[in-house]
Parts: sequence; structure tokens; C-alpha cells
Amino acid sequence: MLFKDVIGLVDLKKNLVQTVKDGRVSHAQVFLGSQGSGNLALAIAYAQYINCTNKQEDDSCSECLSCIKYQKIVHPDLHFVFPVASTASVTSKPVSDNFIVEWREALLDNPYLDVFTWLERLGVENKQGIINTDESSSIFKKLSLTTYESEYKVMIIWMAEKMNISCSNKLLKILEEPPEKTLFLLVVEEHEKLLSTIISRTQLVKVNKIKDDELIGALQQKHSISLTQAQLICHLSNGNYNVAVQLIQETDGDDFNPTNLQLWVRYCYGRKFADLITWVDSIAAIGREKQKNFLNYVSQIMRETLLLHLKLENLVRLNGQELQFSKKFSPFVHPKNCVEILDQLNKAINQIERNAHPKILLLDLSFKMVDLLHIPV
Ligand SMILES: [Zn+2]
Repeated sequence: MLFKDVIGLVDLKKNLVQTVKDGRVSHAQVFLGSQGSGNLALAIAYAQYINCTNKQEDDSCSECLSCIKYQKIVHPDLHFVFPVASTASVTSKPVSDNFIVEWREALLDNPYLDVFTWLERLGVENKQGIINTDESSSIFKKLSLTTYESEYKVMIIWMAEKMNISCSNKLLKILEEPPEKTLFLLVVEEHEKLLSTIISRTQLVKVNKIKDDELIGALQQKHSISLTQAQLICHLSNGNYNVAVQLIQETDGDDFNPTNLQLWVRYCYGRKFADLITWVDSIAAIGREKQKNFLNYVSQIMRETLLLHLKLENLVRLNGQELQFSKKFSPFVHPKNCVEILDQLNKAINQIERNAHPKILLLDLSFKMVDLLHIPV
């Protein structure tokens, strides 16, 4: 994992690199960040940088033997501990090492993964994943191994707040008398669930939520979606990259589809009621979540179209098909109808959440739009 593959967090990455350059690497650190912030990805990138044998100015080289092994998650001095539970194949005393193959695959697929996705992947049915006492014996064993290839042995404990009390106490003992050249990186979502004695022996690295513009840029670049779609998904995911990716995967084009929107607006403005009914039938069939996404998307485009109407083009963040459409459509969205249009869209979204009948709701909304679009400027 390279720093450049971790989204945003520019200042924090600089600080971490500086700790390495200054030889100030603390032996136990807590990477605290909300779900989807990239705290695990960042911890791995940090460990890779520390052990890279050809460090660049602000990132690992990606080519030395250490980097190659880190990137495949197979470095013999990189150890992971994570929440587990018994499964069909591991029926008792499960520990992380039982699932290291699955862990590697999951991390390589998505280093932003959350604990729910991880446990689902393991096939753990409705069981809580924990880091238990058996795990602490395994940690001791790994620490007693000599370092194979690198300067630092690294132990990354993901979701360290899932350690049970006995495991926490054993880890505390290790942190009180830390083995030489061993680095503990505790990756945590809820700091207050750690033992206060562990907190006091670790240095806090606070990983903030990804900034909107950085998330929007990453979504466009990694997932080839339009700027408007990226903005909307950023808004819906509240800075959680993992949720954003899930939203993209769940959308198959119906939700954020400019063609659907253009057809709807054209039918509404042209009072083409027969076409409207057919259109409503097709949107009613895509499912509630997608309907909500679509109406959120319409709201976003309406706001941008109003900006175009008001000649505030420098504030408009549209491109391609969406920009062309909004320009053509901008004479019809203005201060006298825009507030009401947004209000009606919002109400419709709320009603979908409350299980309103989609066909009736969308037809009703369409008829309101017919009137609203004909309000004179
Ligand atoms: Zn390297």
C-alpha cells in the first residue's frame, strides 16, 4: 500500500513521513478514524514506508523487495490481528492466523473494508467478531520470532476495540515492556472502547474523514463516474469511501441516469401524459433505494440548473451530457419555482422511505412538476 493510494489525508501523510525521517517513530500508535476513512490503509502504507529500503521523498519506492512483499501482504515481518469468530471450517478457538488467506484477499480487494463486510466474507452468521484470549498467545508467539528481513517487525491490530478484556490486558503488558524494534499499530474506530491504560501508552494518530473534494476526485478517477454522480454519492456516503463504493456498485445506471431525467423533464414540460405514465412505470420498477437515489440526483441537477439560470456559471459543477442538458433546461428553473420543486422532490424521497406506493407517488410528483415547470419567470 502506497501513501498515494490512500485517498486524501495530505497533511497527515506528510506528518507520518516526517516522523520516519526524524527517527521519531513511536512504538505503539492508535490510528483512530471512522469507517471508510482509510485508517487501516494508512497504517499499512506507514508500515510499508518505514520498512522500504529505498524511501522516496514522500512515499515508498514500490519496487524494493520489502515493498513488493508489503504490497502482496506477504511480508514475514508484517503481522495482522483482526476480529474473527468460529465458522464452519474453524469450529473452536478461532484466531486471525486461521483466516490469513481470506484476510489477504479481502485487503487486496478493498483496504477500506469494514468489519461487517469482513465477517460476512468469512461466512460468520450473525456472530460478533472478537479478538479473544487465544489471540494474545498468538501475538506473544509472533513477537518471539526473530525479525526476518526488515528493521521493524510490525503488528497491525485492526478493530483493536474488539479485543476482549483478557486480550487487552495481555497486550497492555507487552506495551509496558515493548520488545525492541517492534511497532504496534492499533487501527480503531471507537477510541473510548480501548482500555484507558492502553490509550495512555499509545500515541494517537487521528485520521479525519476524507474531504469532500478529495472523495469526489477519487470516485471519478477510480470508478469513471460523472462529476455530478460523484458529488451525489459523496453526499450520500458522508465521506465514507466504503459506502460510496457500495453505492456505485449497487447502481446500474438507472439511479443517476441523465437520460431518465431528461425524458422525465421533457414529458412534464410537454404535458405528454401517456409518455409520463410509461416513464413512471419504468421508474416504479427499479426499487426504492434507486428511486431515492434518482430523486436525489434530480435535486442536485435542479440546483445546478438554477445556478445556470442565475448566470452563476462559475459555481456550476457539471460537465458533459449533464451540463448540456442543464443549459437547455435553465430557462425553466428559476427562483419562482425552484424552492417548490426541491421541496416536492424532498417530500417524495421521504414518502418513499415511508413505503408509499411508488407508482401513485411518482405520478403525483410528475403532475406537480408539470405545473411547477410552467410557472412563469
Ligand atoms: Zn520500497
